[in-house]
Amino acid sequence: MSTVLGLDENRFAYLKQADVARLNEAYRFSEAAHSGQKRQSGDPYISHPLAVAEILAGWHLDSQAIMAALLHDVLEDAQVSKSEIAKTFGKSVAELVDGVSKLARIEFQSAEEAQAENFRKMLLAMARDVRVILIKLADRLHNMRTLGAVPPAKRRRIARETMEIYAPIALRLGLNALHNEMQELAFSNLYPLRYAVLAKATRAARGNRREVIGKTEAAFKARLAEAGIEATVVGREKNVYSTYRKMVEKHLSFSQIHDIYAFRVLVSDIPTCYLALGALHSLYKPIPGKFKDYIAIPKGNGYQSLHTALIDPYGLPVEIQIRTEHMHHIAESGVASHWMYKDEEASLSDVQRKTHGWLQSLLEIQSQSGDSAEFLEHVKVDLFPDEVYVFTPQGKILSMPRGATAVDFAYAVHTDIGNCCVAVKVDGELVPLRTELRNGERVEIITASHAKPNPAWLQYVRTGKARSNIRHFLKTMQYEESAALGERLLSQALKSFGSTLASIDDANWERAMRDTGTRSRQQLVADIGLGRRLPAVVARRLLRYADGVEAKPAANVTIHGTEGMAVQFATCCHPIPGDAVVGSIKKGQGLIVHVVDCAQVERSRRNQPEQWIDVEWDQATTRLFQVAITVTVRNERGVLAKVASELAEAGSNIDSISMEDEHSLHASLHFVVQVSHRRHLARVMRALRRLSEVVKIARFRE
Ligand code: MN
Repeated sequence: MSTVLGLDENRFAYLKQADVARLNEAYRFSEAAHSGQKRQSGDPYISHPLAVAEILAGWHLDSQAIMAALLHDVLEDAQVSKSEIAKTFGKSVAELVDGVSKLARIEFQSAEEAQAENFRKMLLAMARDVRVILIKLADRLHNMRTLGAVPPAKRRRIARETMEIYAPIALRLGLNALHNEMQELAFSNLYPLRYAVLAKATRAARGNRREVIGKTEAAFKARLAEAGIEATVVGREKNVYSTYRKMVEKHLSFSQIHDIYAFRVLVSDIPTCYLALGALHSLYKPIPGKFKDYIAIPKGNGYQSLHTALIDPYGLPVEIQIRTEHMHHIAESGVASHWMYKDEEASLSDVQRKTHGWLQSLLEIQSQSGDSAEFLEHVKVDLFPDEVYVFTPQGKILSMPRGATAVDFAYAVHTDIGNCCVAVKVDGELVPLRTELRNGERVEIITASHAKPNPAWLQYVRTGKARSNIRHFLKTMQYEESAALGERLLSQALKSFGSTLASIDDANWERAMRDTGTRSRQQLVADIGLGRRLPAVVARRLLRYADGVEAKPAANVTIHGTEGMAVQFATCCHPIPGDAVVGSIKKGQGLIVHVVDCAQVERSRRNQPEQWIDVEWDQATTRLFQVAITVTVRNERGVLAKVASELAEAGSNIDSISMEDEHSLHASLHFVVQVSHRRHLARVMRALRRLSEVVKIARFRE
């Protein structure tokens, strides 16, 4: 390549000399990283980051942002690491480059209006630092300016994305000049034929009217001078896209569009704006309904101007914008115009403060028109959102409150997905369901038809939808499980009177329901399962037995461990299969299983014998049960790790650990571990005894 590239220091003259030297370093670093790479146009790759840096210099951004612009593609395209950038150019620059690279990785897919809005919000949310967005916008502008060399399909995709996503962001940040150029470039790439025809017609019309336009401009200048107003009058070509839009929206042909040329009047202060307006209105007749006072009532992004349209002596409309130099500066560069050009290492909070400064200045502009709080909320929400935006596998964007987890996402997609979710992949990798989601992530929920919500989810879900659905499901499930248990308890009670469920006739059921005020058999047995009614009492009612009739001892109720919430295992004694057990029916809680010689059992059994029923273990339980053990060990280095690994070796999981006397010679370790039955527990304890550090080991009960 014969082109000699390099940093044109004149463009960066607003920065300190030392910072310009840093820019040169960043430039050389980037040039070396991209060496040998070419753009689609055939230009050396470095021409692109250089152009992006120059666009940002036009907005007078700080040296960190310019360095990041020079380096913005090295992470993605040149296999340089973030830490290498941090080491050479500082953490802030590395963060900026990383932020821009993250934006580059997500792709806009859906053409839906609402999805475009979500995508814009996602970009703003991901950026966190407004400079990341400004670099991304400059990057996109240069890519649009050089789109000619790109293959047509990709060109259309980039143009559409620019029209729907980036141009509106530029407008929202008050970067009006950038917004207009992006729209024009996007239009010319999306509809090259329409653009060519309209651009040619516009040029021809301007050529025809050149003399007229010159006369109008001279008349304006003369009138303003007459009125003693110092003003700059500039002719302004309206862009082709705005003409096109007007034709489409108002169903006009090109010959019916007259305002293809407009004027801008720049003055020194606000009172002069109104004086200039008066002077021009007295020159030519204004068109009714065309006058807009955006000085008194600024636009949402801080834009201020007076707009009017006059009929010139030839009967053609002429649009005029009147504003101060200061307003003009803001209108052209928006958020960038409020940037403070500090060159020290700025932290993220500094950046947010500066951006808040910009919002604040907008607020001051707005406060002249009232309704400022609502306005500030509107802009702030975009820049510092309380929401995260994530993709579904289909590319749809969902907005979730900050802190929302994969479970919240599952319920946001569909209640059934939430109820059946068992695992989640984020960007293709399996992560725990409680994982908090971050902006731009692609979230895929894995479901299983038999899966059910877990009560533990309630501890970390953030959305009301997930919370209420989980609660509702658990309640329904508890009701069904309680009804199933209640039926078993009732049939055991009937058996003790020598009867069976099947032998109860409808009349007796009806009577029992009437007496107890229950609506259905299901509710009556669920009440038993929930401990609200005693099985023996209901059995007597169904059999129409008087209280005096004695029951004979019946077979025990079998505990399978799969009863769900209807059967709970007491945490005072942690019963496991193989233990002799007994059940207590607690009001509203269902059946609670204790070890027979549990201290709590003896006391309560004496006082409320009717609450207790005989239970026994199913011979073939398949799940794991919690049991508490205390291990006394010699307090040596690494002893906890040894015990833990021995437990794992013996096929047991540890649920919790606490430690006592950890600074004395002997320490007590309290474990809650999972075992399948007493034989398994015996195996675990034998294994632990083999450790030389273990002094004593015992099952623990309160
Ligand atoms: Mn780039």
